[in-house]
Amino acid sequence: MTKRPKALIIGGGIAGPVTAIFMKQAGIDAELFEAWPHSTGIGGGLQIAPNGMHVLAEIGLADEMIRNGSIAEAFEFHSQSGARLGSINHNMKQRFGQPAVNMCRATLNEALINKAWCDNVELRFEKRLVAIEDRADRPIVAHFADGSSAEGDFLIGADGVHSAVRSHVVPDGPKPFDTGLLGFGGFVPRSVIADIPIGQRVETTFGQSGFFGYGFCSSDPKDGVMWWSTQPSHGADAAEFRSRSQDAIKRHLLDFHAGWHDPIPRIIDAAEDIVVTATLDVATLPTWSRRRALLIGDAAHATSPHAGQGAALALEDAMRLGRLMRQGQELSLTFQQFEDERRPRAEKIVALARRNGNSKREFSATGAWIRDRMLKLLIPITAKGMDWMYAYDPRAA
Ligand SMILES: Cc1cc2nc3c(=O)[nH]c(=O)nc-3n(C[C@H](O)[C@H](O)[C@H](O)COP(=O)(O)OP(=O)(O)OC[C@H]3O[C@@H](n4cnc5c(N)ncnc54)[C@H](O)[C@@H]3O)c2cc1C
Repeated sequence: MTKRPKALIIGGGIAGPVTAIFMKQAGIDAELFEAWPHSTGIGGGLQIAPNGMHVLAEIGLADEMIRNGSIAEAFEFHSQSGARLGSINHNMKQRFGQPAVNMCRATLNEALINKAWCDNVELRFEKRLVAIEDRADRPIVAHFADGSSAEGDFLIGADGVHSAVRSHVVPDGPKPFDTGLLGFGGFVPRSVIADIPIGQRVETTFGQSGFFGYGFCSSDPKDGVMWWSTQPSHGADAAEFRSRSQDAIKRHLLDFHAGWHDPIPRIIDAAEDIVVTATLDVATLPTWSRRRALLIGDAAHATSPHAGQGAALALEDAMRLGRLMRQGQELSLTFQQFEDERRPRAEKIVALARRNGNSKREFSATGAWIRDRMLKLLIPITAKGMDWMYAYDPRAA
């Protein structure tokens, strides 16, 4: 009997477990290594757009995520005083075959890890990759911080924005850079906004400086509303904020959003376990692979979150790579075909997210007034201009 090829997959976030699932479907064994202990406590919420939901459907998880999350029926925009500026992303399911779904990141991660486990992926936690050895005469070797190592036929770097595999693939390549915006986020009980009839809309607000958003993400009465605040960092970094007490972070947010329309101050007031994130992206890499190692997801094309597409792109990557692996062509050709197909789309979305981030920076009062008028005019046009992102169906690619 011929030995099945084996993939070493670094990273147990989104791209990693899904790649492992598609590798198994392609007849390839998969061993996945995650730096952190197995945990259900990953913070924050996110939205998976229809193009990402198609991938979850393909691995049998779309219905579960819709049940445990909350379908987003529209994205509403307001000014700081609460004036309505416009709305996008209506009828996603009818138009794109899947809805956009808000969910807790922890719920998504748990479902992906469970599915990988059920599909006999070997899962190793507390294995932080520190080096890769790729010599022609032997298997590729991954070395971990605890002194252990693992061998495989090839290696997939799904280890996110701070990818260690990236340093192997592009040794002197670009590093993640701070886009100058900070993200704060978390959950509040559904009762906090019980008197506001938002239905399944995601409500967002452009301030003179910064941005705020909230919407339902699960039926859990305790944690059913996700919220986030994006604001200029003014030189403070995320690590510095994380070293402050929760009370101090909350005070900062209440000050920052003082005078913003209801229910923003009361959402902040009710918030606990606030997560602080830097807003990073990585400049275009000269290549996504080197010999038997390939980058996917944020490791290949980290994007700032302002297009709401990073996780969907990671899901698409995983599925497309799995499909290409099924063709059984030479590894270098598969890696090159993957990059040729995926790079233009990923880079277009990274650029769009950067542009979107610019409207969340600091404006003068007049500048914000003009921006709001521009948004009112542009939102209906922008809405149509975003269909290409959601209309992409990775099953048909
Ligand atoms: C605040 C915020 C909000 C966002 N909102 C959205 C949204 O609404 N919709 C959307 O589509 N996207 C969103 N994104 C983007 C999305 O989260 C990422 O694009 C997505 O998580 C990328 O998936 P990934 O698997 O490539 O990387 P990750 O999810 O980052 O997973 C990488 C994994 O690799 C592990 N790892 C790292 N280094 C090592 C190592 N050396 N050895 C072993 N393991 C390692 C990490 O611990 C992690 O588990 C958001 C991002 C942020 C920061």
